[in-house]
Amino acid sequence: MRRSGFAGTAKVLSILSIFIGSAFSQPRVRQPFRVPGVPGYVLLKCDFHMHTVFSDGNVWPTVRVDEAWAGGLDAIAITDHLEYAPHEKDVKRDNNRPYEIAAGDASSLGLLFIRGAEITSKMPPGHINAIFLQDANRLRTDDWRKSVDEAAAQGAFLFWNHPGWNGQQPDGVSRWYPEHTDLLEKGRMQGIEIVNEKEYYPQAHRWCLEKNLTMLANSDMHDPVETTYDEAAGDPRPMTWVLAKTADEAGIKEALLSRRTVCFWKGNLIGREEFLKPIFSGGFQVQKDTITIRGTEWASVPIFNDSDIDFHLSSNGRADGFSVPASLTCPANKVVLLSVQGQKDHGTGTRVVRIPYTVTNLWVAPDQGLAVEISIYCKFIK
Ligand SMILES: [Zn+2]
Ligand SMILES: [Zn+2]
Repeated sequence: MRRSGFAGTAKVLSILSIFIGSAFSQPRVRQPFRVPGVPGYVLLKCDFHMHTVFSDGNVWPTVRVDEAWAGGLDAIAITDHLEYAPHEKDVKRDNNRPYEIAAGDASSLGLLFIRGAEITSKMPPGHINAIFLQDANRLRTDDWRKSVDEAAAQGAFLFWNHPGWNGQQPDGVSRWYPEHTDLLEKGRMQGIEIVNEKEYYPQAHRWCLEKNLTMLANSDMHDPVETTYDEAAGDPRPMTWVLAKTADEAGIKEALLSRRTVCFWKGNLIGREEFLKPIFSGGFQVQKDTITIRGTEWASVPIFNDSDIDFHLSSNGRADGFSVPASLTCPANKVVLLSVQGQKDHGTGTRVVRIPYTVTNLWVAPDQGLAVEISIYCKFIK
């Protein structure tokens, strides 16, 4: 996104980065980020948009790999700008070098590493990322359409970056132009970033649902990761979670082309209901689903959140026979007690009570949380 600043410190930072990358006195550690999976798929945590000194970033390519591994990611793409290289006095202009420099490091760490580049045009169409490239330098042309055609010829997956970025849309509103229709119709745009760094674009989210496009969330980092995120302390970057059939580059590509992603951003998950539901039920575990309610007394249902993501639930406060809290937060890796109170007219006998809740930090559409039901076997007595 950003195309300015930090030029003066780039060289110092890159030299420092090389030093850090080669002179560890402490063993390197990786912060796992535990999230429930989706049956039938491998969930891969990915970031498909970031920069290095080969465009307007301020780190050496191997640092991107080391950061991603330490932050618990499974796959990344470095996507330096093709048309913009403010460090070129110091760093040779070559859009294949970031991949070539860092591929060995990625391989030794078991991180999947994808060759990419950012086609950096004014709006419309704005910036477009091309990943799974063979030769990024061949995309450096005098016309974004030629660059996109070349990327497509190389078998790239193409997505529209930060459609509401205020550098191109001063009011922050994402707008669809005829150029985007053209890209879509020619198979030259398969996804959109609905999250870029600190921003979420609800209109782009709607377009992905309406036009059946892949949803992506990426960091677009230019500076060292710790300047923006504290991943070791549980504050991860935005990520695209890819639901792959195989944990390799081909598996990621197939999943992206099949729209199987969930976007993680600031503790929220954004995606299609069919994927958010199993992720929720994999983490949200009712530990004891049988309770007895006598009259208007209280009873508790212990719920364990077996994941590193908090779940925030809201309801209208009522179920069949008892009242429930209107809001409930299930903190990551903790047990919370759901306290319910019998209603006067609940009757007697044992029945299954389904408590309807909305998970307010799992978004199936803009302003629409995931609807779930918690089922409880309840014995009602007078
Ligand atoms: Zn950009
Ligand atoms: Zn970028």
